[in-house]
Amino acid sequence: MIFEVIVDISNSEVDRVFDYLGDESISVGSRVFVPFGNRKIEGFIIGQKEQTDFDKSKLKRIISKIDDFTAVSEEMLQLMRFMAEHLHIRLIDALRLFIPSQMRGGKVTELKKKVVTINRSVPIAEMLCKINKTAKQQKALLEYLNEKDFDDYTFLANNFGGGAVKKVAEKGFIEIKEVKKARIPYQNLSSKQNCFVHTQEQQNAIDTIKNDSNNTFLLFGVTGSGKTEIYMSVIDYYLSQNKTAIMLVPEISLTPNMLKLFRSRYGEQVAILHSGLSAGERFDEWLRLKRGEAKIALGARSAVFAPLENIGVIIIDEEHDSSYQSESNPRYATWEIAEFRRKYNSAKLVLGSATPKIETFYKAQKGEIKLIELKNRINKRPLPEVEIVDMVKELRGGNKSFLSDKLYDELKLTIKQGNQAILFLNRRGFSSFVMCTKCGYTAKCTDCDVSLSYHADENLLKCHYCGKRFRMFDLCPECKSPFIRQGKIGTERVVNELQKLFPNTGILRMDVDTTQNKEAHGKIIEAFENHEAQILVGTQMVAKGHDFKDVTLVGILDADQSLHFEDYRATERTFQLITQVSGRCGRDVKSGKVVLQTYSPKHIVLQLASRQDYLSFYKKEVNIREVTGFPPFATILRILYLSENEQNIISTLNAQFAKVQELKKTNGEIVFATKMKAPVKRIEKKYRYQIIIKVQNEISDELLKQIFEISDEREYKDVSVFVEKNPQNLT
Ligand code: ADP
Ligand code: ZN
Ligand code: ZN
Repeated sequence: MIFEVIVDISNSEVDRVFDYLGDESISVGSRVFVPFGNRKIEGFIIGQKEQTDFDKSKLKRIISKIDDFTAVSEEMLQLMRFMAEHLHIRLIDALRLFIPSQMRGGKVTELKKKVVTINRSVPIAEMLCKINKTAKQQKALLEYLNEKDFDDYTFLANNFGGGAVKKVAEKGFIEIKEVKKARIPYQNLSSKQNCFVHTQEQQNAIDTIKNDSNNTFLLFGVTGSGKTEIYMSVIDYYLSQNKTAIMLVPEISLTPNMLKLFRSRYGEQVAILHSGLSAGERFDEWLRLKRGEAKIALGARSAVFAPLENIGVIIIDEEHDSSYQSESNPRYATWEIAEFRRKYNSAKLVLGSATPKIETFYKAQKGEIKLIELKNRINKRPLPEVEIVDMVKELRGGNKSFLSDKLYDELKLTIKQGNQAILFLNRRGFSSFVMCTKCGYTAKCTDCDVSLSYHADENLLKCHYCGKRFRMFDLCPECKSPFIRQGKIGTERVVNELQKLFPNTGILRMDVDTTQNKEAHGKIIEAFENHEAQILVGTQMVAKGHDFKDVTLVGILDADQSLHFEDYRATERTFQLITQVSGRCGRDVKSGKVVLQTYSPKHIVLQLASRQDYLSFYKKEVNIREVTGFPPFATILRILYLSENEQNIISTLNAQFAKVQELKKTNGEIVFATKMKAPVKRIEKKYRYQIIIKVQNEISDELLKQIFEISDEREYKDVSVFVEKNPQNLT
């Protein structure tokens, strides 16, 4: 038989399908070893056929199968083709997303364990008789196994001696067998098994998802409305129908709560896929899903590729979160993959959020997806009261600190009452930049076109784009002046200042810098949960999904920060962030309060966010999008060019731009096209240029294909070109 094989050569541009000969034992979707040149390499079988265009006598034979299972299902092979076409990626790049990376190259294998079992065909008394009287260990071993039936070889060898185990085995009284043993992460995680009576709203949501003829739902529910319980009840239902489920969360390491709930409710039926696991754990969790031993895949973005069959429901929690769109290659949007799998499996897709994406809500309004609303928090707990503080007024009144008088007073009160506070500031480090007040010199990264941030604890300047570190200076490197000004305050400095104001209060910080270590997130969250600190300061990491019972105060230190980006999503992001952070307080019996500090207190987005009035925000925003022509009324395409050689970029850019303009003349879909330097002109030594194309409504497959073709034609190998559809980030 002839098989079509994609060879898996890392760092290679080879993406061709090769024909090989093989026998019936090999199935499509398997991984195999094949001869390639004079090497033996791994490959994926993606098809099978009778005829070949090559000389059949010259075809080489597949050497052997790698796994004892079919690594890639028929569904995933179709998904591979879909992704290659819609994202313009190589087949191998899609395949690589479908299996754990450590599996390639045989870097992990299944963990095997030796187990000893007693032979029940011989009565125990007879066995004991036949053992030498002096062999006390052998007797003890048999008596032990008579009680327990079987146990771990290592344990027995440690306790009774390896020799004893061997001797008894030789007599045929016990059997030593190798069994596969999965490494299951977080096995001991548990939380209170809550047994809730569903609220009317929850029950209605569950019934609608199960019974409605629609297949995609927007679960639009305020923070604390009990969405997790709905997800789990829906999953319960599909498990009872012998189906499987995928549960996606924005960043799993940030949501230990969800992890605990799922582990305690589903035990080993849930497999957790996230980057914090060891290679072995990740592989085993994947394999348990593959083999059908686990039926629920819980994880971040990439869990959408979980090797499950017969999927009943796919859930995307916090569907608005930007992490669902991959910003490095392959640049896929999780919801598009989920939609493909939903269709293939005739499953349901549930998108949950308190602040849905404008595009999603628009679809719900048009009836393309079914809207389910949860208007109330559990037990009708009120949403926190939000107070807007005008920082211009504070400044005029002589308060130059980052804390308004109001927030200071509220913090003091919260601490006194023994409650907890979260302070949110989306800026890491000590200060956003350092600048000489005499000559205006600002420290910049040598590889990127961005200012360096100061990190006082390490006394370093760090580039937040490439991570490069530089020594901090006392005197200006240009003019030797000692007067250096600090830029905007970052989380590190906030903690510093708070410690001076509240010397006896525990303060924790959660941001990229304090969570370098994989377990750090969990530890900070646990410490805060255990009241080891009363204040938690952090970047958007503190906004996500946490459910702390005693948090009664949330301070948003700089609400304007994300508002003024030159990005059509800036207002949407700001609204979402404020709502999400505010939602972290007053979740239990104690009511919550939010203090929102801003320099533009009248800004309509802040006003609406302070009232958590999503619907009004949506109406306003969707109107602006329609008038200005942005998604969902248009598609924004960006062709991004990167290279260390600026001349090569410019000539590629110009050549391709000419073709885009040519295309525009005949294609009615394109509204406009423009070329420019990217807002961040250089990252990691590479210059960045872009073409922005605006297309009416949803782009057609045909136009997308034409653009891909244009992006493929390039003269210089060192210029990388990426086409992005509605990118999350236009920097
Ligand atoms: P959301 O995801 O909508 O922000 P959660 O799912 O975190 O909300 O639920 C908020 C809180 O309400 C959680 O502590 C949860 O345990 C609790 N909860 C959920 N459903 C019920 C219910 N039916 N009765 C009582 N408490 C509930
Ligand atoms: Zn200077
Ligand atoms: Zn840099």
